[in-house]
Amino acid sequence: MGEVRDSTMRLDAKIPSGPLAEKWSRHRNHIKLINPANKRKFDVIVVGSGLAGGSASATLSELGYKVKCFCFQDSPRRAHSIAAQGGINAAKNYQNDGDSVYRLFYDTIKGGDFRAREANVYRLAEVSVNIIDQCVAQGVPFAREYSGYLANRSFGGAQVSRTFYARGQTGQQLLLGAYQALAKQIEAGGVRMYPRAEMLDLVMIDGNAKGIVVRDLVTGEISSHAADAVVLATGGYGNVFFLSTNAKGCNVTAIWRAYKRGALLANPCYTQIHPTCIPVSGDHQSKLTLMSESLRNDGRVWVPRNKGDHRAPGEIPKEERDYFLERKYPAYGNLAPRDISSRAAKEVCDEGRGVGPGGRGVYLDFADAIERLGLNMIRERYGNLFEMYERITGEDAYKAPMRIYPASHYTMGGLWVDYNLMSNVPGLYVIGEANFSDHGANRLGASALMQGLADGYFILPYTIGDYFATGRPAKPSLDHPEFKKVEEEIARRTNKFLSIKGHRTVTEFHRELGKLMWDKCGMARNEAGLKEALERIPALRQEFWEDVNVLGDGNELNQSLEYSGRVADFMEFAELLVLDALTRDESCGAHFREDHQTPDGEAMRDDENFSYVAAWEYQGLDTRPILHKEPLVYEEVHLAQRSYK
Ligand SMILES: Cc1cc2nc3c(=O)[nH]c(=O)nc-3n(C[C@H](O)[C@H](O)[C@H](O)COP(=O)(O)OP(=O)(O)OC[C@H]3O[C@@H](n4cnc5c(N)ncnc54)[C@H](O)[C@@H]3O)c2cc1C
Repeated sequence: MGEVRDSTMRLDAKIPSGPLAEKWSRHRNHIKLINPANKRKFDVIVVGSGLAGGSASATLSELGYKVKCFCFQDSPRRAHSIAAQGGINAAKNYQNDGDSVYRLFYDTIKGGDFRAREANVYRLAEVSVNIIDQCVAQGVPFAREYSGYLANRSFGGAQVSRTFYARGQTGQQLLLGAYQALAKQIEAGGVRMYPRAEMLDLVMIDGNAKGIVVRDLVTGEISSHAADAVVLATGGYGNVFFLSTNAKGCNVTAIWRAYKRGALLANPCYTQIHPTCIPVSGDHQSKLTLMSESLRNDGRVWVPRNKGDHRAPGEIPKEERDYFLERKYPAYGNLAPRDISSRAAKEVCDEGRGVGPGGRGVYLDFADAIERLGLNMIRERYGNLFEMYERITGEDAYKAPMRIYPASHYTMGGLWVDYNLMSNVPGLYVIGEANFSDHGANRLGASALMQGLADGYFILPYTIGDYFATGRPAKPSLDHPEFKKVEEEIARRTNKFLSIKGHRTVTEFHRELGKLMWDKCGMARNEAGLKEALERIPALRQEFWEDVNVLGDGNELNQSLEYSGRVADFMEFAELLVLDALTRDESCGAHFREDHQTPDGEAMRDDENFSYVAAWEYQGLDTRPILHKEPLVYEEVHLAQRSYK
């Protein structure tokens, strides 16, 4: 693909001036408003009905805009957000343990290894407190103390308890809250919901996002939809690794197609590997299961001190155990952040001290907590997680420790957005996990739900109004030739998939790509491995287009066809992800380059050369994309070597 071409184009993040703590309120005070009667003149397309898309659709409609909301599931309630277990952060300081907006902001910046935009993160921390009020008002059943106050627990990378939760089903309860708000608007006619509809392309007219083309997943019908603005809330791309904790349907298609239409894709190499997942048990698996990070509040992580110690965990005396997180990171112990805990687990397994089949596992042990707090308390806190663990492994974690191992979980990269959550394409907004905005090189636990709801309930509804008021966008007619052109491109692509009639299934290709990505660009990366992956991905992509077998036809429910489109996009996207990882010649957060580590194995940043957001611009599939750099300027925090010791 040739050399990386750097661009001198300045990305304007539109960060408001003024002191950090006042930026958002000043911005809100100055951005333009739309008269209530005029709001109904504007049509907004929201793709995605998870926490980000669901909350945005409901709120925009409540304000008076006309909304069309799309999702590929049969109900908005089945968005992947429903899987979130552990909790949502907010700087309420109910515990009186020293928390504040500033601390949540600082923890998030530090957790992201100083690779996130300061102003966005401060706003996120600020808005976090409103989210809890909003959700309580909706009736979300957060856990409560005996006194009636909302309860909190701790998540990784924090020394305070600021995580609100509803047992191990926080995402489900929050999504039900957003869904009921959405359902009210659907009933009132403000939102038109399109379930089982997959966005296959973005339509650009005169350089602005003006609509989308979707495929009805039940009938196969292709249709166009025009709007004054398009919002993508389409979630993360963790399934590029094939095995991940994400729902099987999660994919990169919407943001990838937008990228190919001109939207910049930022920091794709920042992918999070979660330390506490049920280990891989064999080739038959198509998915991995998360054991929530909240379990590390009470569970202790350990492996045998000696290599080759195959005794049952209960037979290994305490002196012969290595509680490696407590040993290495005494200040945070078992609540060290995800990237650090994952690497520590990999390290002890690489040393031959891992447990379970294949030695790729570590123990998460509740014996001490059960002794201290009693079985009932542990059951009350984590009962559904223990039950889930038992259903999958057949083991009772009240009696013997869980076995866990890191797995692909969350993606910090995504489409580049400015402070207003608008991409570089006018009229294209991106919210939730689909954008790159707030988590830098590593997301702290319980901060994704916070971000999705902050974007959807509290940020986009303000900033999109300013765009309508200042840009005066005009919704195009569906007769515009661009819609027809895009529809025809999609039809051609569909026919191509169906006509190959090769010998390998879509799953086989996805599995091979995922393994390559995990081996060469997973928890640890090095130059040689990344270069190998860059050679192999285009070849694998070609094999895919020559030898994939997609059954059925295009005018019916055809999951093989749906899947082939998503995997085809992963095949292209994976190359950009690896290129980004190779170009970022430093370690930071979850992007761990083995060639850049401190003597004790921690990530070694290179602030002088890499303190920027990498935003890639598409130039055609066989041409290297252009790298645009948004410098990360810190006004408030001092960049420091991240330490959890
Ligand atoms: C197992 C698990 C547990 C987690 N637990 C926590 C937790 O405790 N706390 C926390 O903060 N975070 C947690 N996370 C992360 C968090 O759940 C997600 O980051 C967050 O829910 C993403 O929300 P979203 O609205 O951005 O996307 P999603 O919920 O993934 O929604 C995406 C939406 O986009 C739609 N969509 C996607 N592509 C298309 C397309 N092409 N056309 C039409 N529609 C499309 C989908 O149908 C869906 O409606 C967890 C993640 C996992 C995997």
